[in-house]
Amino acid sequence: MRTIQMVDLKSQYHRIKPEIDAAIFEVLESTKFIKGPQVEEFATNLAKYTGAGYVIPCANGTDALQIAMMALNLQPGDEVITATFTYAATAEVIALLGLKPVLVEVNPDTFCIDPASIEAAITPKTKAIVPVHLFGQCADMESIMAIAKKHNLYVIEDLAQAIGSVYTFSDGTKKQAGTIGHIGTTSFFPSKNLGCFGDGGALFTNDETLWQTIKMVANHGQRVQYYHEVIGVNSRLDTIQAAVLNVKLKYLDEYCAARQSVAAYYDKELANHPNFKIPYRDPKSTHVFHQYTLQVCGINRDELKKKLAEKGIPSMIYYPLPLHYQKAFGSENYHEGQFPISETLCKTVISLPISTEMDEEQLAFIVSELKQI
Ligand SMILES: *Cc1c(COP(=O)(O)O)cnc(C)c1O
Repeated sequence: MRTIQMVDLKSQYHRIKPEIDAAIFEVLESTKFIKGPQVEEFATNLAKYTGAGYVIPCANGTDALQIAMMALNLQPGDEVITATFTYAATAEVIALLGLKPVLVEVNPDTFCIDPASIEAAITPKTKAIVPVHLFGQCADMESIMAIAKKHNLYVIEDLAQAIGSVYTFSDGTKKQAGTIGHIGTTSFFPSKNLGCFGDGGALFTNDETLWQTIKMVANHGQRVQYYHEVIGVNSRLDTIQAAVLNVKLKYLDEYCAARQSVAAYYDKELANHPNFKIPYRDPKSTHVFHQYTLQVCGINRDELKKKLAEKGIPSMIYYPLPLHYQKAFGSENYHEGQFPISETLCKTVISLPISTEMDEEQLAFIVSELKQI
């Protein structure tokens, strides 16, 4: 049996190596390492794939979040609501810009931000909501957009874990993650569902004015070279990364399908098991399974992780600590029990290996070991 990895980037690369190598060598020969034509080409291809009006590539997913908040002209002291159960990057840039992260509870089934908790946290200073489409499934965007409209707030979707996920509104309209709010932000970190060979990110918007502003902010605050209108940042997607992404984007549907079939295998084998709760499937959103995350009950999660590791089965805890327990986010201002769902999830979740290259032998081994333990 091949060694089991959380993500198997090497096998994924080898399957399309000739195409990837040719795309990279083309950039090397052109020496247009920055702003080569592949970058614009990728922006166009990704806009076509997602249905976003405009795609602006940038250096990484954290930058994308920061640029989004700068482009919306959020000001120090403005409050931005996000979930306490997420990756720190989401809240980090809020604080970095002098804005106030307001952490709220998540839904126990989807792990995504809970609309009722958002509404309860709104004050006159609230300016934006940042839903994170955690683990590959969209947050409750219909409710979130309705709240945003009612209170005149911006919505920045963090779709770093959910590229390609499709959300269906109650009137039947379907939209891809990242194209529903005012801005969508994503990451092409190598292990993401669409990953490059280094750092990369992008912003989505359907608003032409915002598109222009985002491009300006990401490019030192200039629309015209050497004329700086605002303080911006330098955040670019390298041409080599864009060339890799142009190739891999063609396989994204295949990658999603491969992840979904791994998830279906786990689901089938672990459903109704007394110690595991399989991931909830929200009928409103497709799930692209950036992570396959179980909730364990009646057994010690950390013990389980250790025993799996002894059998050569890696697993990860996303995330061991909610943001309101993190020193950097002012844990002293929060108290235990404030967000009981998130706090419980941090103690009970475990993510199993899921990648585009897993075979049945590996899956059967993982499941049988899980059941034995
Ligand atoms: C990966 C990730 C980011 C950050 O992306 P980087 O490219 O590593 O900066 C932000 N938010 C979420 C939810 C992520 O999973």
